[in-house]
Amino acid sequence: MATGSHQSLDFRLIAKLREIVGNDGVTSRATELKVYECDGWTVEKAAPDLLVRPRTTDEVSSVLKLLHQRGLAFVPRGAGTGLSGGCLPLKSPVMICTSRMNRVLAIDLANRRIEVESGVVNLHVTNAVKANRYFYAPDPSSQVACTIGGNIAENSGGPHTLKYGVTTNHVLGVELVLPDGQVAQLGSAVEDQCGYDLVGALVGAEGTAGIVTRAILRLMREPDAHRTLLAVFDDVDTATRAVSAIIAAGIIPGAIEMMDQMIIRAVEAAFHAGFPEDAGAVLIVELDGISAAMDEQGERLSELMIGAGARAIRMARNEDERAALWKARKRAFGAVGRLAPNYATQDGVVPRTRLPDILREISAISRRYQLRIGNVFHAGDGNIHPIVLYDERDPSEVRRAIDAGRDILKRCVEMGGSLTGEHGIGVEKIAEMPLIFSPDDLMVMAELRRVFDPEERSNPSKVIPTPGACVEVATPRRQAPL
Ligand SMILES: Cc1cc2nc3c(=O)[nH]c(=O)nc-3n(C[C@H](O)[C@H](O)[C@H](O)COP(=O)(O)OP(=O)(O)OC[C@H]3O[C@@H](n4cnc5c(N)ncnc54)[C@H](O)[C@@H]3O)c2cc1C
Repeated sequence: MATGSHQSLDFRLIAKLREIVGNDGVTSRATELKVYECDGWTVEKAAPDLLVRPRTTDEVSSVLKLLHQRGLAFVPRGAGTGLSGGCLPLKSPVMICTSRMNRVLAIDLANRRIEVESGVVNLHVTNAVKANRYFYAPDPSSQVACTIGGNIAENSGGPHTLKYGVTTNHVLGVELVLPDGQVAQLGSAVEDQCGYDLVGALVGAEGTAGIVTRAILRLMREPDAHRTLLAVFDDVDTATRAVSAIIAAGIIPGAIEMMDQMIIRAVEAAFHAGFPEDAGAVLIVELDGISAAMDEQGERLSELMIGAGARAIRMARNEDERAALWKARKRAFGAVGRLAPNYATQDGVVPRTRLPDILREISAISRRYQLRIGNVFHAGDGNIHPIVLYDERDPSEVRRAIDAGRDILKRCVEMGGSLTGEHGIGVEKIAEMPLIFSPDDLMVMAELRRVFDPEERSNPSKVIPTPGACVEVATPRRQAPL
């Protein structure tokens, strides 16, 4: 089945939904629904038949009870910044978006935690506490837009994952509305919890367990000081070797990010951050900690980078320069929009020491498929993001872009890595799951999923492939044999 169009969405159902969430909380006009036809994975598109935007947990619960009575499936959506098609409606006529659930509910600095609704934008969590010198550590580059609910669903990371960990390390408890409308509390505000780690099972479930409505998050104390440097290299090989040299020297920076020449040029054209356009690659490395140690560590890091082949080092001299570097890095994906009508951001992982190998592979794959591929990624984690440029008006380019992405992922797995560092499986990589999981692994995952969602009505056809099934999605058409 393609998606969307569902006979059971009669006027009576729509009227009842309007009673629950208000007139302005239900959208059924096709032209308005088109906005929701894809996330950041624009290769595949399908609009929902109905969009519902509740404001409270009670409203979410009432909506899901109604859908449960009708046996209707739904797809949760936050801000739609996902990069693997996670909120693409497949076999789910109703999309439930948390954009109106955006309140910070409680701040408890003494216990270093904050409680928010799931539609709160990631950066707004840090904004709510930064005057007190606290921050929320997972910082996806999309943090100005993406929601905490989306972050929990994808187990999102960011540049500072290297030192601080990913979302799962920062979620203490969640409120979850199960697909039948029951409200469950998983975990709690307590740091050390006993029993099965159900929060851990939910983080990364990609919306297949119901709708997260609230979360209790861990807050971190802002470090005393930062040292942020830009190391310039002639080629990606030397730059990626330098990454391993840093870690091998016993230094764990807050972040190590890499950009190759294609991305440097796009970013420079867009933001004029002062990146050398003739460089083969740059690393942005950030140290954080107590002020007294920063100068010495900064010098040691600079020496290490020069020793590893950097041709120049530029240290941010003040907070403005540091902010400019991060702005350029975090908006790199946006700058890529200048290079081609469309792009697909891949997300794979390799052991850090294999970075030079995978970048050589990506370069070979780029030549093989005659597609331009840029690289901007969380190098410290070995989490690569090849950006495959294509033009969706050319079906052969779309096909090649998909195949190129698949080849890159296969090579990641062969090198001992994984299919995703942070963007999730979604619809994009569902056919690749058997590359790392056996049929038994996948069966156990499916059974765990059914504990939350016995009828598989929450984001169906995502994450776990069904043997023998075939997902067909809308324009441009793609068959994913599972
Ligand atoms: C420019 C750009 C840069 C990015 N950089 C990073 C990065 O550095 N690190 C990173 O990890 N990701 C990054 N991403 C990917 C994306 O921002 C993250 O995956 C993010 O967590 C998605 O949040 P969202 O609110 O947009 O979720 P959506 O895209 O709306 O949804 C994502 C998934 O979450 C589910 N979902 C959403 N809300 C809920 C909820 N309340 N309950 C249950 N399920 C829910 C959806 O069903 C879907 O499966 C980037 C994306 C872009 C466009």
